[in-house]
Amino acid sequence: MKVGSCVQRFPHLPDFMTHRPTILLHVCCAPCATAPIERLRAEFDVSLFFSNSNVWPPEEYDGRLAAARGLAARLGLPLTADAYDHTGWLAHIRGLEQEPEEGKRCEKCFEFNLARAAAHAREHGFGLFTTTLTVSPRKRSAVIFRIGKAQGPFLKYDFKKQGGFQRNAVLSRLYGLYRQDYCGCEFSDCSRSSRLSRPLEGPAR
Ligand code: SF4
Repeated sequence: MKVGSCVQRFPHLPDFMTHRPTILLHVCCAPCATAPIERLRAEFDVSLFFSNSNVWPPEEYDGRLAAARGLAARLGLPLTADAYDHTGWLAHIRGLEQEPEEGKRCEKCFEFNLARAAAHAREHGFGLFTTTLTVSPRKRSAVIFRIGKAQGPFLKYDFKKQGGFQRNAVLSRLYGLYRQDYCGCEFSDCSRSSRLSRPLEGPAR
């Protein structure tokens, strides 16, 4: 029986029997959050956590955060924006700037953001946290799982499975979301100059 139907039939049930579990979802960007939210909402009360100090330049960060806030408002979900600390992120990945995308720099990048998500989950009483990062075909879920588990009670959910990435594309179009054309940091594949000169729109990756 679903929790909702329980509440309707037995409104006197104590809170612990009617409340759904909560989960903190680390959001890397709005398009990547669409399908994961849809899936998690079937089982959890979902709260969003935007923590992406890897993103550069700051105007790009602002655009991604605005899109995430718009999605949260549209779906009626709470969203917390972490402090933007690109200097701290640069210190964390120091020495790995020239690593190829999908390499060791990206692992340190995941570690930086997921550690902050885990700390927020701990401080605010979430029993679980997870991340939208696994929806990307360019990010290895096994690596993200390992890093997430090392930080705290991480739900290993591979959102790219069962057409998750394709579902993201459908929902992002439906919601008219801003879709960036590079991963995020200044070392991402794609030249810095072309990023700085492009308008805030383009195909998602
Ligand atoms: S390419 Fe993407 S995942 Fe890798 S370090 Fe840069 S922002 Fe992080």
